[in-house]
Amino acid sequence: MPELPEVEIAARRLSTALEGARVESTLAPGMVVMKSFDPPLAELEGREVAGVRRIGKMPIVDFATAPGSARGELSLLVHLMSAGRLQVFDKRASLKDKRSRLLIRLAGGRELRLREFGTKQRAWAKLLPTGAVETDEMVATLGPEAWPAPPLEELVKLLDQPRQLHPLLRHQRTIAGIGRSWSDEVLWEARLGPFKKGSDLEPAEVERLHAGLAVLGAAIDTYEETVGETVPDKMPMPLRVHKREGEPCPRCGATLAAVHFAEHSTTYCPDEQTGGRVLKDRRLSRLLK
Ligand SMILES: [Zn+2]
Repeated sequence: MPELPEVEIAARRLSTALEGARVESTLAPGMVVMKSFDPPLAELEGREVAGVRRIGKMPIVDFATAPGSARGELSLLVHLMSAGRLQVFDKRASLKDKRSRLLIRLAGGRELRLREFGTKQRAWAKLLPTGAVETDEMVATLGPEAWPAPPLEELVKLLDQPRQLHPLLRHQRTIAGIGRSWSDEVLWEARLGPFKKGSDLEPAEVERLHAGLAVLGAAIDTYEETVGETVPDKMPMPLRVHKREGEPCPRCGATLAAVHFAEHSTTYCPDEQTGGRVLKDRRLSRLLK
């Protein structure tokens, strides 16, 4: 799933590629992709792309006002969910492509396309007046951005909750932008166990977590150097521990361990993050109940 660093680089590349491009037509092959109906998607026709940006894990495409339109600037707020990709293509998609959810056809034959891999249709988009983005429920309820990291004093307050760190860092209303991959990385950087509770953190531990959030910025820097004009389907994520169970910890050499859940896993270094303890496998304990 694209998280803050991946959506950030995608937004930067899309913005460069699309700024000033004029919309010719739009199509929503995904039956349930549009979560808004007014203004209609057709309202984008004739408008120019003003830019592409990001809030949390959501890309936003801004469109300038069209000459003669009674509507002002519009923005397309996109939620990629677990398998969505927003990319620009030189040629238009075949209408048989079952991955297409939203097609925005641009002058000159290019196309901005929201695609979704896998069989589930979960990705969605909303077309809103640009001024209404901030107050949209999905945006207004987000916590502060995880990158750049909020001030330390703010992070102390945000994390003071009786919830385990791994889900707490992924809770978008607490802090926005982190998912399963980067949560593993941030906690490894901070040498903190994934199931330690936020409210149990010592001041020095919150400081380590605060410093650990810098991996998000480092990932964006890496992408700036490695990702070309076109963002690939599968981003070469600079992950050091996520999904590397059984491999040596890149810092201390201990064998990385993982806790498996039904559809995902959490990787950590037992020596540095859990005081040598190997955490219970949640799949197994669920089966034994
Ligand atoms: Zn280690």
